[in-house]
Amino acid sequence: MTAQSRRKGAARCEHCGRALAVWLGSDEVRPIGSADGCPCGSTSFTVFD
Ligand SMILES: [Zn+2]
Repeated sequence: MTAQSRRKGAARCEHCGRALAVWLGSDEVRPIGSADGCPCGSTSFTVFD
């Protein structure tokens, strides 16, 4: 759990299509300010390159 292990990025919810600012971890995508996932309840995201 180090600050260097994650970076900010953007991703789109696969369920509702909402674009969110996210933390990109080594093996997870977590919306900033919403640890439980997208407001729609989904936790599947497509990361923008
Ligand atoms: Zn969503």
